[in-house]
Amino acid sequence: MKDKKRVLTTGFGMPVDNDLNSMTAGAKGPVLIQDVHLTEKLGHFDRERIPERVVHAKGAGAHGYFEVTHDVTKYTCAKFLSEVGKKTDIFVRFSTVGGERGSADSERDPRGFAMKFYTEEGNYDMVGNNTPVFFIRDPLKFPDFIHTQKRNPASNLKDPDMFWDFLSLTPESIHQVTILFSDRGTPRSYRNMNGYSSHTYMWYNKKGEHYWVQLHFKTEQGIDNFTGEEAERMRGVDPDCVTRDLHQSIEKGDYPSWRLEVQIMTPEQAKTYRFDPFDVTKVWPHGDFPPRDVGRFVLNRNPKNYFAEVEQAAFSPGDFVPGIGPSPDKMLQGRLFSYHDTHRHRLGPNYHLLPINAPKACRMDSYQRDGYMRLDDNGGPEPNYWPNSFSGPNPDPDLPFPKLDVSGTAARHAYELGDVDFVQPGDLYRKVMKDKDREHLVSNIVGHLKNAQKRIQLRQTALFYKADSDYGQRVAKGLGLNVDEVKKLAAMSQEERAEATAK
Ligand code: NDP
Repeated sequence: MKDKKRVLTTGFGMPVDNDLNSMTAGAKGPVLIQDVHLTEKLGHFDRERIPERVVHAKGAGAHGYFEVTHDVTKYTCAKFLSEVGKKTDIFVRFSTVGGERGSADSERDPRGFAMKFYTEEGNYDMVGNNTPVFFIRDPLKFPDFIHTQKRNPASNLKDPDMFWDFLSLTPESIHQVTILFSDRGTPRSYRNMNGYSSHTYMWYNKKGEHYWVQLHFKTEQGIDNFTGEEAERMRGVDPDCVTRDLHQSIEKGDYPSWRLEVQIMTPEQAKTYRFDPFDVTKVWPHGDFPPRDVGRFVLNRNPKNYFAEVEQAAFSPGDFVPGIGPSPDKMLQGRLFSYHDTHRHRLGPNYHLLPINAPKACRMDSYQRDGYMRLDDNGGPEPNYWPNSFSGPNPDPDLPFPKLDVSGTAARHAYELGDVDFVQPGDLYRKVMKDKDREHLVSNIVGHLKNAQKRIQLRQTALFYKADSDYGQRVAKGLGLNVDEVKKLAAMSQEERAEATAK
């Protein structure tokens, strides 16, 4: 038995005789530079950390499968959706957004909901959130928005002034702010929340006919949230409570599952719909576009190694398969660039070759070559250019990608700042929320906004008032603000309001 024991080696495979004592000149040192085992060990340790994600740094993931339950072949030719009963392997990563890798799981924050489907036509990533909308709808605002949700550049502390100053000067954020400050902003576990594509995407069929779609992943465990107080307490009691919940439930065979529903809009409907279907601050009301069942997914296997499978997992909303494509949603268009870009920075240009990111159900056959950490045979002797008259892979001109007419004036077009931005948050407050939800919403907002300067409190409360007068009045009362002053600000245009509340 003894000779079957595994022998420790260096990273290059050389057997190591002693892993407790550095090589020294004499018992008391100094250490010899010829102890290459020591310098290799320290050198690797010094480089263990990779840049954490700028957003979605803290996450938890699991493997599982997706199964088609309803026929959607009329709308998409994606092969993994081609047959009822068809199963596809998936990997899912849930996350918080603003906090660092060591931050608490119960922080008030949207939750990331990123899925990788290992299909026979390549990997399809669905990179959504647990909210159906987003704070902004132009990618030019994204870096500014994230700066305000992170730490103050001088104090390195989270800063309620920065947080609310930006949001109150960005009125289109009001819908997402209302969802974030409801108890859905602090899910009790990743298993107890829905996932949404948030953006509108395109589905197209074999004939090249296209549809606009929004995806909803509905939890089969039921929605369950921490109250504001519980979430705050859990930050101290168990900052990893949500990560722990996911891992432990899968470990004991209690596999979480979600149903996939799709809302479908035809291109004709999109032209005249009362809300801009490509504005990510809006939903498509269910009454207008009823969700239809598509499938179901189950998470049934924990990662064996967190770094290899979760930290190195790289998702991009730009990873499509034939049958699924982008929409003109401006925020989505920015993300199509940014996700691949951030992974190249974080993991290197060949991150797609890492086992968790590589296609599993088909062969990757491209002309990309070289670059740091090329882990495979780099294409061997195959041609590395196209066109070639040797045996390299050929583009497939028969793929039915729809041809879309696009025209317009090249300019920095602004969205019209109108009352339409307040309709859906108002509906959510009045029609969807129950008394208790409204009570929690107001107290969650007051508990946070009270830490901002009064002029910022007033400006933000005017936005709540514009969504719903009762909503605005209750926040104003909670903050001890003069309701008449809030009403006056609410009646102004956004520019006038910004002017009236400037420092
Ligand atoms: P519906 O009554 O058909 O749908 C309301 C939706 O709101 C349900 O999907 C429900 O999710 C969700 N919901 C319930 N409580 C909250 C909350 N605190 N925060 C966020 N979502 C919540 O109404 P409409 O489709 O006409 O939409 C009305 C409003 O509901 C919208 O303006 C929007 O704010 C919100 N909403 C709409 C969604 C949509 O896709 N239409 C999706 C999510 C929210 P569940 O089924 O899981 O309980």
